[in-house]
Amino acid sequence: MPLGAHVSIAGGVFNAPHNGKEATCEVIQIFTKSANQWKSKRLSDKEARMLDEAQEETGVEVVCAHDSYLINLASPDDALFMKSYNAFLEEMQRCDFLNIPNLVMHPGSHVGSGEEAGLKKMGEAFNRLFDADPDGKVTICLETTAGQGTNLGYTFDQLAEIIDMVENKDRLGICLDTCHIFAAGYPISTEKDCKATIKSFDDILGLNRLKIMHFNDSKKDFGSRVDRHEHIGQGFIGEQAFTYFLNDSRLAKVPKILETPKTSAAEDIANLTLLRSLIRKKDIK
Ligand SMILES: [Zn+2]
Ligand SMILES: [Zn+2]
Repeated sequence: MPLGAHVSIAGGVFNAPHNGKEATCEVIQIFTKSANQWKSKRLSDKEARMLDEAQEETGVEVVCAHDSYLINLASPDDALFMKSYNAFLEEMQRCDFLNIPNLVMHPGSHVGSGEEAGLKKMGEAFNRLFDADPDGKVTICLETTAGQGTNLGYTFDQLAEIIDMVENKDRLGICLDTCHIFAAGYPISTEKDCKATIKSFDDILGLNRLKIMHFNDSKKDFGSRVDRHEHIGQGFIGEQAFTYFLNDSRLAKVPKILETPKTSAAEDIANLTLLRSLIRKKDIK
């Protein structure tokens, strides 16, 4: 069961696997650059080699990178769109350079241009990105969002709509964030709810597209459309959802990543210990 957390790259990307090991992670998510800045320092061959070595040494695998929070591929503003486009292309190339298989990204915000216009912009953006980088290997994972403000991607249908517009669909996957889908109005607090929500995901997007799960409880109530992560079992979602997701055999191979609040490795260790205690010997369907 690949379980882990988002960990820091302070001092260099090659430090991340060591940070992951300290927090008892088997897998980790990282930023490949500062998430709140447009500019990034070019990665060197040495840094890539050191990251490979650190993964080998620790046994901790970087299963995904998360894109910068500034990027908005649905922006109706031409200058901001181009800035986002160039930054995202660079993020894709950084992942390939570092051999990171998945790049999790937030579908953008339409900022008043309307949902349809925003979704269309995103579909076009991916076609253009894949044309510009035809040999790219990284899978782009559209993350389910809470639907705050004018954020897109808060329904499975919207994500399917984006994928529909893209020619090279094989280069797209999905990252399902438990806090976000709950805040967006998908019930997951009981086993019955989880089954129904996963069925809906499978019907609309297909479980084969699910590449990454973000495991977060929610500080805000069901359907709030507010994105605030809480420690596992301490929020409005509760432990049952995680018990379900950890024991559905169809999800067994999907890496599950914590993005819960922390000041040191201790909080991740506590959440991971709890999650591991929820794994049953026999699986449920
Ligand atoms: Zn995210
Ligand atoms: Zn997330």
